[in-house]
Parts: sequence; structure tokens; C-alpha cells
Amino acid sequence: MKNLDTICVQGGYTPKSGEPRVVPIVQSTTYAYETAGEMADLFDLKADGYFYTRLANPTVDAFEKKLCQLDGGSCAVATASGMSATLLAILNICGAGDNIVSSRAIYGGSYNLFSVTLPKYGIKCRFFDPDASKEEIEALVDERTKVIFAETVANPTIVVTDFEKLSRIAKENKVIFMVDNTLVTPVLCRPLDFGANVVVYSSSKYLDGHAVALGGCIVDGGNFDFTATNRYEEFLKPDESYHGLVYASLGKTAFGVKCRVQMMRDLGAMMSPQNAFLTNLGMETLALRMERHSENAKKVAEYLSKHPQVEWVKHPSLESDPYHALAMKYMPKGQGGMMSFGVKGGSQKASEFMEKLNMITIVTHVADARSCVLHPASTTHRQLSSADLEAIGIADNLIRLSVGIENSQDIIDDIEQALASI
Ligand SMILES: *Cc1c(COP(=O)(O)O)cnc(C)c1O
Repeated sequence: MKNLDTICVQGGYTPKSGEPRVVPIVQSTTYAYETAGEMADLFDLKADGYFYTRLANPTVDAFEKKLCQLDGGSCAVATASGMSATLLAILNICGAGDNIVSSRAIYGGSYNLFSVTLPKYGIKCRFFDPDASKEEIEALVDERTKVIFAETVANPTIVVTDFEKLSRIAKENKVIFMVDNTLVTPVLCRPLDFGANVVVYSSSKYLDGHAVALGGCIVDGGNFDFTATNRYEEFLKPDESYHGLVYASLGKTAFGVKCRVQMMRDLGAMMSPQNAFLTNLGMETLALRMERHSENAKKVAEYLSKHPQVEWVKHPSLESDPYHALAMKYMPKGQGGMMSFGVKGGSQKASEFMEKLNMITIVTHVADARSCVLHPASTTHRQLSSADLEAIGIADNLIRLSVGIENSQDIIDDIEQALASI
């Protein structure tokens, strides 16, 4: 299987003779064995198999394998949500006294995790402006920096990551480059091809695609050499909590295996089999959906950019967009369905516009089949002043629009009648 659209449909699960054609939901916490020895080999990682669903489950396994194949990684670990994917991936390499160097243009939940919660446990974050130069960003890296973090396309500011700039800093300093690829998925961009070492996802968005199952995943790129630096000592020393295992000795799967046998064992944020089933089902149409989301968003962005009541539009498909060149370099097939725009008349007009929409609904979720909008200034970010909003790139008239896979003309018609009535 080479092509991504085929992997979306067929990847991750191959039934043997007489087994179910569709990935079954294995709704069991435990697995039976005939001898104690067989079980002991599993605990010692001498044999592959299932013994407790917190660590591995066949339905979850099929989802992990499919996403891992799509990204071209070495292994993957599914999690209960996108937030737990980011948390586990960070804790897998960071401890008290370490730091993260992260783009400022990231999902609000990740921003809170890095700026408020992790510092309580001694992990500090140094944020950089995504447009800053290589030298400015590199100046934030020191001997306790364990990860450089960015989002392929940031939610909701629609900034596209300059992979070349960040991966060069990561390579030269032998630091792990971690990318949240939620808003484009491997169908449009594979971060590992552009120098990322670890990819994290909220599968609650496009991967599921229907807004029915929370989930996340960590994909190990298998392309970071833990033996080439002293930065990640924990990977070089025996893990006494796991029979003296030295993770670096595992080679390409060091990051992923540690994440599962240590982080998942101790923190337990596993994806449920039911959610893995639903996400897997959604992913069968991922390639088709991403193509349609991208086409529709391009048409809507072009329409909005010509509308007299619209002050500005951000979507990387637009030639006038500051991130257009980066988008053409890293995601030429399509730039996804997420965009933002400003309605003339400020916050008040933005709210009025949204209330006049008929088909497009107001929800906090993004990136599923249905078109939806959100006005961050009056909802998710309402506690911030106009000056604070400006500082993080969220204008008070910013409307975040997640373009769905409905007919593009119906989406445009709904926007048109709402703009006409404010
Ligand atoms: C939604 C989102 C998350 C968090 O995912 P949950 O599944 O809601 O926990 C992380 N990153 C990005 C880019 C997101 O859009």
C-alpha cells in the first residue's frame, strides 16, 4: 500500500481467514492466556500481544497502525484526547528543570498547558513569534531544552509553520522537533517528511471527521538518534521501573515504546476501543474529505476576499495570504478547511452576522463534515481585553470558520444572506 487514499481505507488492519472484514470493537479490558510464562514474556516485552487495554487493545491498535502508516512513522500511541497526546508526548521527554521552545501560534488548550499547567511541575515554556528569524528562535534553546513545538497550521490564527527553519534549529542542536498536525492531517502534509521527529494529533477533528469521538495520537518518526546526544539522559539509563530497559537501545521505536510502557502505564490516558472504532471508520473517507474541505475553503475564501463588508480573510490558499508560499511548499494538494475573517463593524457586527446564519452553526468544535463558526472575542477568549486579543493575533471581529463538505454554493449562499441582513 503506497498511496495515502488507499491507506485511509485499507491500512492498519488485515483480517485472516474467517475473521471480521471490518475492524471489530474489542470491548474487553483483559486477555486470557494458557500459561503464566506467556504472560510473563509480555510483561518483559519479549513477546508482542495484549494483556491489559490501558497498554494496548486490538481496535485501538488498528487505528494507531493506520495513522502511523499515513505519516510514515515507526510506531504510534493513541490517547484519550488531543490534549493527552500533547501532554504524554511532552512528559515522555521533559521533567522538572527542563524547557519547551514553542511557537506562540498554537491551539489555546496547548497554550494553557505550556504557559500555566506545566510550569507548576517545573517545566517552563519559551514562546516565539512564528515569523521570528532562525537566530532569534535558536537563542531560546539551551542545554535543558527538550522540544521545539509548532502546529502545521495554527488554530485559529491560520499561521503555516516554516518547517525548514524549525527543523534546522532542531537538527543543529539535537533537539526533538514535535508538530501538532491536527488541522491538515497526513493526507495534506506529512511533518516527518519535513524534519519533524514526533507528530501529535487531536483525532477529535478531521481524523474522526464527524464530531462523534474524542481522541488523540502520538506518532514516533523513528528518526531521532538518542545515542547521538546527552540531552535525553533518561533514554540512555536503565529504567528501573521496567526491568532495567534502556529505551535508546530500541532504536527507531525508542520514543513510542517509552510513551506506551512508561507514560501510558503510569498516566493511563488511553483511547477507548469504541472511540478507536468510530475514528477508524471516519478515517476511511479522510482523503476524500480533506480534498473537499480544501476545495470548498478556497472557494469561500475567494468569495469573502471580494466582499465589501469583509475587512480581511486568512486562508493560505489565497495568493495574497502571507503564508501562501509556505502552504504551497508544504501542502500543495490542499490547505484544509480552517479559515478566519473579519467582518466590518467590529465585535458587534461579527456576533450579529453569526446569528443570522442558517445552515452554518455556532459551535466550539472545528474540523468536521459540517460547516461551523465561532467568534473567539465573545466566547472562548471573552475574558481577554482588546489589547490582549490583538497581542495573540485575534482581532475582535475575527470569525473562525471551519468549512465543511456541503455544497460550496450552499455555504456561500448562507454567508451571503447573513452579510446582507446585518
Ligand atoms: C482541538 C485541538 C487540540 C486538542 O484536542 P482535544 O481532542 O480536544 O483534546 C489540540 N490541538 C489542536 C490543533 C486542536 O485543534
